[in-house]
Amino acid sequence: MDETPVTVRAVEDVGPETVAVTFETPEGFAAEPGQFVRVVREFEDGESEGRYYTLSSPTVAETFEVTVGVDPEGTLGPWLASREPGDEVTVEGPFGDEYYQGEPSVLVLAGGPGVGPAVAIAERAVEAGAEVALAYEDDQPVHEPRLAALSEAGASVLVVSDAFEDAVATLADASDQAAFVYGFSAFCGAATDALEAEGFDTDAAKVESFGPAP
Ligand SMILES: Cc1cc2nc3c(=O)[nH]c(=O)nc-3n(C[C@H](O)[C@H](O)[C@H](O)COP(=O)(O)OP(=O)(O)OC[C@H]3O[C@@H](n4cnc5c(N)ncnc54)[C@H](O)[C@@H]3O)c2cc1C
Repeated sequence: MDETPVTVRAVEDVGPETVAVTFETPEGFAAEPGQFVRVVREFEDGESEGRYYTLSSPTVAETFEVTVGVDPEGTLGPWLASREPGDEVTVEGPFGDEYYQGEPSVLVLAGGPGVGPAVAIAERAVEAGAEVALAYEDDQPVHEPRLAALSEAGASVLVVSDAFEDAVATLADASDQAAFVYGFSAFCGAATDALEAEGFDTDAAKVESFGPAP
């Protein structure tokens, strides 16, 4: 969709300096976990700034969610975190080709706010009866209840603060899994190297970089 006002349903703290923002799904909006939207902040002087946020809900039926790592010095992060239910925010999209397409066995690698699409894809894949492995690197993990629920539902979930390549080695099965990678660019590079070391065809991996880390 082109730039469209959407209504905020909820803003929830999901861990240190991280919020999940739930929007009411506008008429005709369709998107898959792993795709992203552009959220626009309009200023009183008529200027505007847009940033990209990746879906962190497994579907977009009725509502959809994005998970925002809030840099206190940022332009959109703190502003999004202070939205209230009922506020309208301009959203455009979806964008992106690196999304879940029903693969029967997945290995999802996430760094920092990449955990948003990771939990969304894992939940969608578990619901579809797929085999799910998820490795998440963060000093201060977020979305812990959803990660725990995924484990309980049968997914293999590892949350680490370092030695990420060891977590990948523990979960990887290059003969079987489709690989997904989400996070800032340095994380995506390291995660792709870890996949290559485990014998994955990294050209076939779905990798979405969030750009340089702040
Ligand atoms: C495809 C894609 C998907 C993404 N998905 C997500 C997601 O799901 N969740 C998520 O949290 N993020 C995601 N991002 C990142 C997100 O779009 C923003 O970049 C991020 O939230 C920071 O935006 P901000 O406006 O809050 O901060 P910004 O205003 O961009 O500032 C970030 C930091 O840079 C500093 N800074 C800004 N300008 C300068 C300058 N000129 N010189 C020096 N320092 C400067 C600021 O002080 C601040 O510390 C994604 C990005 C891409 C490209």
